[in-house]
Amino acid sequence: MQNNSNQAVKKVVVAGGGTAGWVAAAALSKRLKGLVEVVLVESEDIGTIGVGESTIPPVQLFHNILGIDEQEFMRATDATFKLGISFENWGQIGDRYIHPFGTTGKGSFLTDFQHYFLHGQKLGVEASFGDYCYELQAAKAHKFGKSATSNISYAYHLDAGRYARFLRTFSESHGCRRIEGKIASVTQHQNGDIKSLLLASGEEVSGDLFIDCTGFRALLIEQTLQTGFVPWDHWLPCNKAVVVQTESAATIPPYTRAIAHDSGWQWKIPLQHRVGNGLVYASDYLSDELARQRLVDGLETSALFEPRFLSYQTGQRKKFWNKNCVALGLSSGFIEPLESTSIYLFMNGVVRLLRLFPFDGVRQALADEYNQQSISELEKIRDFIILHYHQTERTNSPFWNYCRTMQVPDSLAHRMELFRESAHAFQSGEEMFRLESWTHVMLGQRLQPNSYHQLVASLPEQELRQHLQNIRDTIGRAVEKLPSHRDFLRQYCPAN
Ligand code: FAD
Repeated sequence: MQNNSNQAVKKVVVAGGGTAGWVAAAALSKRLKGLVEVVLVESEDIGTIGVGESTIPPVQLFHNILGIDEQEFMRATDATFKLGISFENWGQIGDRYIHPFGTTGKGSFLTDFQHYFLHGQKLGVEASFGDYCYELQAAKAHKFGKSATSNISYAYHLDAGRYARFLRTFSESHGCRRIEGKIASVTQHQNGDIKSLLLASGEEVSGDLFIDCTGFRALLIEQTLQTGFVPWDHWLPCNKAVVVQTESAATIPPYTRAIAHDSGWQWKIPLQHRVGNGLVYASDYLSDELARQRLVDGLETSALFEPRFLSYQTGQRKKFWNKNCVALGLSSGFIEPLESTSIYLFMNGVVRLLRLFPFDGVRQALADEYNQQSISELEKIRDFIILHYHQTERTNSPFWNYCRTMQVPDSLAHRMELFRESAHAFQSGEEMFRLESWTHVMLGQRLQPNSYHQLVASLPEQELRQHLQNIRDTIGRAVEKLPSHRDFLRQYCPAN
């Protein structure tokens, strides 16, 4: 039996046609056209997870790489714009802050903006950190606009089912071949590499490189290759969600809502023609029936179908690339939907794969590099999500008492201590979340620094006050000119 790893990669087989599968197929078929054959196998009988509708700004970059037209994509997916996430009841019941996209304030080379803000606060300037962010102010006013002269950082809310169909059409137009069928078993070469997928119909689909997008089943990476899983449920104990779609509401806020409840949180994602709703909870602390009731009680418009339940475990696969198999999407692991990072992670994963593509055959060094980059990226996002649960003053339930007092990863403990003692935040390497993101969440959830950089304290008081005032005024004038989000959508990309 030949050793597959020496073979040039001429054919890629994508197993699974959820969002991850079609994202992978779209990128590979478009960017490797003429070099590599791309085949996707999916089973309509099994279906997809059907959630995953809130995104973060790098999705635009991914679309640019593929040459996807924004208006066409938004019309096809019932999409709306997203400027951030409104976190409600997280630090304390009644609290609200928005974690926005874009920049906040204007610091200097030596001192980041939060130091200016904190000094202003000490001098009695009555403004919140979010008052220095254009995207956040636009989000609060339910406004949105784009022009050649003003940059606005944004992402999308989209219909997951429509998005997969949109990417399927795109992929097929770039030569991807789709095979409908249930994967009954997976065959391997003598060295353990995957050789083929055997379908229930009897068809055999062989390939050189396999992309596992089979969702939580992880048919190739785990059921076949037994790669192993690192659980994170001791830090991220939510493990269930109950979801339902409702009729659209009177307003379309350009942000996702994440509302904490006593054993988890609830999302509201506004699309053009409906709202996505879900209640995330930890089954050790809340029963399914109470979760369902709580979801239904919190709905603002009529449900379009019966709520359905999903189960998951937070954690990551020990390797994302094992032998000739790369796991993308839920098969590679899952953090939490809280900061809408999953779609981004597999988009970035497929871009990383394109960068390191094993044209001459799978090499261990390529897989090692891919795994190192992916794991490092995911662990930083994991810390950011844990921060939301851990940094709270809520004492009203066993769930929050657990989260507030649990031991967090050392990497996160260090960030929190650094901010508490000195107001420093940082973005390390190619980390997804910028220091402003960390600062918004830490301040928004009541982590008040004891001190800040003394270089800003040496500025003349009037100069500092003027600097802060100018930023707020500029933002205020810019937001004033924006149309409402709803009006902008109507004119720019009415859904099909
Ligand atoms: P799936 O959608 O489960 O697709 C698996 C595919 O594999 C399907 O096509 C299925 O038919 C196929 N398959 C499986 N077994 C077989 C077989 N034997 N034979 C043939 N085909 C097979 N992400 C975000 O970015 N933003 C969010 O707001 C967000 N919210 C979420 C909320 C919840 C509660 C959860 C659980 C996840 C959320 N996610 C979110 C994550 C997001 O839903 C997923 O990352 C995304 O949908 C990709 O899923 P997938 O394609 O990996 O898996």
